[in-house]
Amino acid sequence: MLDHKKMSITSMDIIKLTSKGLYCPQGDFYIDPWKPVSLALITHAHGDHARYGCQTYWFNEDGLEIMRYRLRDEGQFIPQPYGQKTKIGNVWVSFHPAGHILGSSQIRIEQGSQVTVISGDYKRANDPSCQPFEPIECDLFVTESTFGLPIYHWRSSEEIAQEIYQWWQDNSKEKQPSLLFCYALGKAQRLLALLKNLTDREIYIHGTIAPINECYEKRGIDLPKCQVVTQVDAHKDYSEELILAPLSAFRSMWMRRFKNVKTGFASGWMKVRGVRRRRGFDKGFALSDHADWESLLKTIKQTKAKKVWVAHGETEILSRYLVENEGIEAFPLKGFHQEEIED
Ligand SMILES: [Zn+2]
Ligand SMILES: [Zn+2]
Repeated sequence: MLDHKKMSITSMDIIKLTSKGLYCPQGDFYIDPWKPVSLALITHAHGDHARYGCQTYWFNEDGLEIMRYRLRDEGQFIPQPYGQKTKIGNVWVSFHPAGHILGSSQIRIEQGSQVTVISGDYKRANDPSCQPFEPIECDLFVTESTFGLPIYHWRSSEEIAQEIYQWWQDNSKEKQPSLLFCYALGKAQRLLALLKNLTDREIYIHGTIAPINECYEKRGIDLPKCQVVTQVDAHKDYSEELILAPLSAFRSMWMRRFKNVKTGFASGWMKVRGVRRRRGFDKGFALSDHADWESLLKTIKQTKAKKVWVAHGETEILSRYLVENEGIEAFPLKGFHQEEIED
């Protein structure tokens, strides 16, 4: 019987785990390295995946403006269209949609008949602000597992959006502003794009969200009309408004302008009992940009991979499940430094 504790990376594998991150010796490049390297292939622009200091960055072209904004245009940027195979060293490399945020990619590496896919962060739920995840058949699949426990099951994006809209309307009737916290890159734009289907009302935003909205709009993503809070009249009455803000603004000076405010947090972590209460939000909305348990399993089956490396989050339980129930050679990627900070 297979035992996930006895499996490891072998010399046959096209990628290795090094002190700088996942490395492909045949192409002499890294994927989402956590230290500066000469050639970095980036799955997406979140801080735990795209870091400063590399010489050259390859990533999907939809993320160009976001990468420029986040990395302050340092380094050489080589944007790639989805699906285009390019030879680097002895391997063929291509980027494919991961459905996580705008420009997010899975990275496919082909050498001879062997195909390896590194998923990066991904989700299968509807997100009108980016391209949907594309399942790719491969021999080795490196999957994330941020929410890799059977307790994680997401309701549809539309249901959550409707719930947020209703919360806003209810607060509005009580003359209470609705202040919704969410990550500024990805989640905010997904929320805005979903809300656009429900209302043509203007939505107010914290200043950190505005430049990212611009990056999305430059790529043709349809967002509702937004106003930056600090750019409107200081006496404005917010009692019927919805305001989006990053977590860093929670309990800040900035927040004091909203009198009698109701707070909410949109995150997969809201599924965890007690987190909302501990953090002190009035309301939690479980909207995640990561795959839930069922989507992780569905995706892994679709790849038809015989070998799966599980990185990020709940790696042990998912690995064991795959070994015992699917007969897949799966194991947790130990020493993987990536920490989920953005959901
Ligand atoms: Zn991410
Ligand atoms: Zn991540």
